Amino acid sequence: MPSVISTDVLIVGAGVAGLWLNARLRRQGFSTVLVESASLGGGQSVKSQGIIHGGAKYALHGALTGASEAIADMPRRWREALAGDGELDLSGVRLLSEAHYLWSPGTIAGNLTSFFASKAVRGRVDQVKGDQLPPALQDKRFKGKVYRLAELVIDVPSLVQRLADLAGDGLLAGQKIEPLLEGGVLVGLKVDEREIRAQRIVLSAGGGTAALLEALGLSQPAMQRRPLHMIIAKGPSLKPLYAHCLGGGTKPRITVTTHPAADGQWVWYMGGDIAESEGVARESAEQIATAQKEIGQLLPWIDLSTVQWATLRVDRAEPLQSGLTRPDNAFLAEEGRLLVGWPTKLALAPDFADRVIASLARDGIQPGPVSSLPPLPKPPMGVPAWEQLLP
Ligand SMILES: Cc1cc2nc3c(=O)[nH]c(=O)nc-3n(C[C@H](O)[C@H](O)[C@H](O)COP(=O)(O)OP(=O)(O)OC[C@H]3O[C@@H](n4cnc5c(N)ncnc54)[C@H](O)[C@@H]3O)c2cc1C
Repeated sequence: MPSVISTDVLIVGAGVAGLWLNARLRRQGFSTVLVESASLGGGQSVKSQGIIHGGAKYALHGALTGASEAIADMPRRWREALAGDGELDLSGVRLLSEAHYLWSPGTIAGNLTSFFASKAVRGRVDQVKGDQLPPALQDKRFKGKVYRLAELVIDVPSLVQRLADLAGDGLLAGQKIEPLLEGGVLVGLKVDEREIRAQRIVLSAGGGTAALLEALGLSQPAMQRRPLHMIIAKGPSLKPLYAHCLGGGTKPRITVTTHPAADGQWVWYMGGDIAESEGVARESAEQIATAQKEIGQLLPWIDLSTVQWATLRVDRAEPLQSGLTRPDNAFLAEEGRLLVGWPTKLALAPDFADRVIASLARDGIQPGPVSSLPPLPKPPMGVPAWEQLLP
């Protein structure tokens, strides 16, 4: 029989939300156990594009929404953490790009006036030209305008690795999760028959949270999934590009980020409007053909003849919104000892942790006596999709 564990905060789900929260709590002296059923970051987190948004994308519409306001501080917080002097020490995490770019291909119909006037971008957007352009756009045939946004792009696998290091001995690979009740009150969880008692239990299991709630006999908070059909390209002719290419609409026509593959080549990972509803309806081969046509039209100087292609279907998991709209902030619901939530963006993981920490403070939860954990089975690291699809 595995030993019984007592901890201050038991977290279920080791994506960026659970890992970041875990590291923040440990830094504040709380004991934690973080349970993961598959791989660290292997859900949405390592499948994300790694953009630390400051809200510029959401200001494209002209309307300044709550998201633009709440998210505006995230690049600063991440930058400080990456420099090793923020709320977490993330020194060693690989920064892929100091900036994300907004690229208007010249024929754009969208109205950029309100965009540039909006609070989320005001004073933080500079036009770039010539050798300041992202390498993939440096060609004499390039027409259009490029603006540098004060947003970062990070290498998510190295982030997950660093947060796993900060988790110390607290990571636990576990599949079967059941409630641990005392007098009908939830006091912890049974993880693969091991009893874990905790002052607070946090569910941050991304798309797995709905099933966890059901296992605990709860139906709230309700969750929504928004599917994406992402495109992956790998080849020697692909140079770094981190940019939203504007169409005429409220969403970028295509968002390209570039990631290092294990074999030293660059991978282009493409989302944005092309990966949303119409893209979701396309078969993989059709989706690849659509992306090839887009890149062929937008960047005709890039030789695609040796590029390998794949697509990835993945859902964003979020609190239920009316009409499948995008939530504006990290979300946290509370019910007794149980806290349940979604960061809604990788960039908003700090906001998710803030909300949990504020809840603990409000309820007067303090770090309990420190007792060392027994050796626990560790979950593996999540692997980027291109290493599996284009080895
Ligand atoms: C294609 C794509 C691109 C994106 N790009 C960006 C971007 O550029 N910038 C940005 O800010 N956001 C982006 N996002 C959103 C971002 O990825 C997510 O909001 C964020 O990663 C969610 O983190 P999470 O920890 O809540 O979930 P996840 O990363 O999904 O982690 C949840 C974890 O819980 C585990 N789990 C599930 N069920 C159980 C269980 N029963 N027991 C134990 N563990 C369980 C899972 O295995 C998983 O590891 C993107 C999302 C997608 C899909």
